[in-house]
Amino acid sequence: MPRPLAALLFPAHCRLCRAPVSGDPDLCPGCLHDLPWLEAACAQCARPLVQAHGPALCGDCQRHTPAFDAATALLHYQPPTDYLVQRFKFAGELALAPLLAGLLATKIAARPSTLPGLLIPVPLHPSRLRERGFNQATELARVLARRLGLSVGHRLCKRVKRTEPQSTLPVKQRRANLRNAFTLTSRLTAGHIAIVDDVMTSGHTSEELAQVLKQAGARRVEVWVIARAGH
Ligand SMILES: [Zn+2]
Ligand SMILES: [Zn+2]
Repeated sequence: MPRPLAALLFPAHCRLCRAPVSGDPDLCPGCLHDLPWLEAACAQCARPLVQAHGPALCGDCQRHTPAFDAATALLHYQPPTDYLVQRFKFAGELALAPLLAGLLATKIAARPSTLPGLLIPVPLHPSRLRERGFNQATELARVLARRLGLSVGHRLCKRVKRTEPQSTLPVKQRRANLRNAFTLTSRLTAGHIAIVDDVMTSGHTSEELAQVLKQAGARRVEVWVIARAGH
């Protein structure tokens, strides 16, 4: 259905305050303005920094260089980002993918840096994909690819281990939980890759996947996420 007709028949409401809105994105100007935009962040892992004076690294990245080279996050993982991400991921509101990934695409397009040759959504284990019915990272990567003119390696990477949700584990076990979780199904042809995920918390998932990509010959690996947790 053409969008103007659809808008007439089903007037859109702001996803957060229910005020009537027209067109994309499905947030009213007030709620859009009030989102917790992540501005001051570590150049390498996107961890929020109290204040950034140009490119700055957080303490963790200064002590231990991550396997990925840079990370870009759109929002702080705090209300109402957590609500939006949970509606998207657990309530299956796939219409939130164009909203969230569209905003992230705008942020990425505004950077001066070169775009990657390939996007890789963090894969779900097949059994979890069956339970959820979709991979939230794939839905985001599709939108990012369309908006930025990039391609997505949908089946290039597999999750071979069904890991426990990181949030349920003690910090010490989180790295071990993800070890050997990912494998590549074919040869890498792109040298510059962006891993796409919904939320980055400890960074261990991206770290593990970035290591696999680097071992397979990737020269530069970025991480793109909607939201970044941590202080
Ligand atoms: Zn609103
Ligand atoms: Zn950092």
